[in-house]
Amino acid sequence: MKNSSELYPYRYETHCHCCWCSACARSSPQEMAEAYWRAGYAGMVLTDHFLRGNSAVDRTLPWEEKMRRYYDAYEAARDWGKEKGFHVLFGLEHHYGDGKEVLTYGIDLPFLLENQGLHLLPLEEYAGLVHRAGGFLSMAHPFRDRDYINMAVKPQPEYLDGAEIFNFYNTEEENKKAAKFAKKHGLLPTSGGDEHFAGGSSIGRTGIALRTPVDTGKELVEALKSGDYGLIVNGEVIPVSG
Ligand SMILES: [Zn+2]
Ligand SMILES: [Zn+2]
Repeated sequence: MKNSSELYPYRYETHCHCCWCSACARSSPQEMAEAYWRAGYAGMVLTDHFLRGNSAVDRTLPWEEKMRRYYDAYEAARDWGKEKGFHVLFGLEHHYGDGKEVLTYGIDLPFLLENQGLHLLPLEEYAGLVHRAGGFLSMAHPFRDRDYINMAVKPQPEYLDGAEIFNFYNTEEENKKAAKFAKKHGLLPTSGGDEHFAGGSSIGRTGIALRTPVDTGKELVEALKSGDYGLIVNGEVIPVSG
């Protein structure tokens, strides 16, 4: 019988940042791609902070320019990975208020260009647009307790597809609450390094593990929705179903 690592050999980081688009990040998109590639990952989803979060994108630029900045970072990482067979996918970490954030997968540049002002919408409307476009929302670190987060505001599972039940820089207690929350509401679990630095210690310890490689946001969403994948928790692959 195959063990989980053999069953799900393709590892993807689902939550990481680069300094082109996240003010809190230290490494370039290419440096991040290289770090995950060296650690044996098949790919990564670049999830930079969107405009209401800790974005490094100049907010005074016209909408199209701002959206292109996000895509430029993704394309730089993707191009770095191309000849190595390392798959980089586009994503965002959207702050919708009160320190609460959702990881957004399966969207692309045309979606962003069509939806000017997207970052200002209430979560309900943001989620509606993302879902209509075939995207997927996993709440980032749902129970993280920090000064910048309003703990009185609870996660809203009705707008989510998944929840990040293992975030490397969360406490064990915070992650446990997230796992309970996901289970209670039938949300798909994700695991993320929330890494901001190519030398960071989460690399190799977090993410999801897939049966077959994915190369587009749509394929990633399909793989997640199938429930047939593994969660990487401290480097160990744990099957999501069964
Ligand atoms: Zn950050
Ligand atoms: Zn993050």
